[in-house]
Amino acid sequence: MRVSVIGAGLGGLALAQGLRGAGIEAEVFERDPGIVARFQGYRLVLNPIGFQAVRDCLPTRWHPLLDEIVMEASAEQLILDPQLNEIGKLGASRTGIVVDRQVLRHLLLTGLTVHTDAALTGYDVLPDGQVQANFAHRDPATADLLVGADGVTSAVRGVLSPDTTPTDTGVRFVIGRTPLTDEFADISKAFGSKIAGDGVSLLLGAMQFRTPPKQAAEQLAPEVTLPDIGDYVRWAMILPPNGSLDNATAQDAVLSHMHGWHPQLRALIEQADPDNSALLSIRVVHPGQRWTPGPVTLLGDAIHATSPTGGNGANTALRDADVLRRSLIEANEGRQNLISAVDDYERQMFEYGAEAVRTSLERLPAFAPEAKLS
Ligand SMILES: Cc1cc2nc3c(=O)[nH]c(=O)nc-3n(C[C@H](O)[C@H](O)[C@H](O)COP(=O)(O)OP(=O)(O)OC[C@H]3O[C@@H](n4cnc5c(N)ncnc54)[C@H](O)[C@@H]3O)c2cc1C
Repeated sequence: MRVSVIGAGLGGLALAQGLRGAGIEAEVFERDPGIVARFQGYRLVLNPIGFQAVRDCLPTRWHPLLDEIVMEASAEQLILDPQLNEIGKLGASRTGIVVDRQVLRHLLLTGLTVHTDAALTGYDVLPDGQVQANFAHRDPATADLLVGADGVTSAVRGVLSPDTTPTDTGVRFVIGRTPLTDEFADISKAFGSKIAGDGVSLLLGAMQFRTPPKQAAEQLAPEVTLPDIGDYVRWAMILPPNGSLDNATAQDAVLSHMHGWHPQLRALIEQADPDNSALLSIRVVHPGQRWTPGPVTLLGDAIHATSPTGGNGANTALRDADVLRRSLIEANEGRQNLISAVDDYERQMFEYGAEAVRTSLERLPAFAPEAKLS
């Protein structure tokens, strides 16, 4: 069996790793010109399902490495004022395992065939049932199954399920990260908390690796090359309604909303890593009507994009990768045919995917009361 995976995000790469481990041929096609072509580095909290899913997609010899490049998520989630006085609680903190998205992507990329600068423009199902993927800048590729893991603006979804389109909640936020130095030890209670300012919220979360990723890979799996990054604080500011950067840098835009804030909070933004900040919009995709199962399917944000406030988008994309991997192994070993394997996957995915979108939207008004939810 041969599988074409469109999109080298977490979901597509986890699937490709899982298939490679099972001896199934998988090639990944990614639109970006390189793997670190744009801002990719934020931390993710993985729940037990998501973490187990990615673990199961990786070769067991890399499990010790995976366990070394994470941290436990345990901080209490408080609401603080801009002087860091506690003014409320955000509710139960998310427990789980914190990973850095960029580091995890590098681990997932190891050993895969990934074609960059390969933006899918469409596909054709051929008379023999195979699928030909067509690209803007390269020759078509043919496979038994085409998997659209191409995120919220999915080109694969545009053909397979054109009525399923993203909803813009209108919420904009700026995200970035700052190296975690001793200077910020005194404000550690703010990590995992929401700082409620005048019409804006600042959310902070620490990423403290058990072992720095590059060093962990050198010690535990020399065939893996991980980025040389140290501990950091991820910050994200939800902008006032219809927020934009007004030509300011992400960093300046955040600072412009922080006049009179605690000096260490301002210092945290002032010392941000300039290459790792971005303005993002919160868009969601509600899985709509199911299509008739065939040789093309979707996974991750392409079919169920959630609000990041739910903390479940990556978890659900990784779960998809694992569920689809298991179904495809069954088909490859002749225990069912390919289309019924895809059908099995899609039946499960539509149910938990829709639930993930619903729960993520329930949490959004606590951060952005003006969000448009439908
Ligand atoms: C700030 C932030 C914090 C988050 N925190 C959490 C968290 O704590 N826990 C959690 O579970 N989730 C979290 N998420 C959500 C999570 O990051 C996403 O749900 C997850 O990364 C989706 O993975 P994916 O593989 O489906 O898609 P993506 O990671 O979006 O990957 C899609 C890939 O497809 C490529 N692509 C797009 N179009 C094409 C094309 N036409 N041809 C070829 N390639 C294409 C893109 O370049 C991209 O590389 C967060 C998201 C954000 C923004």
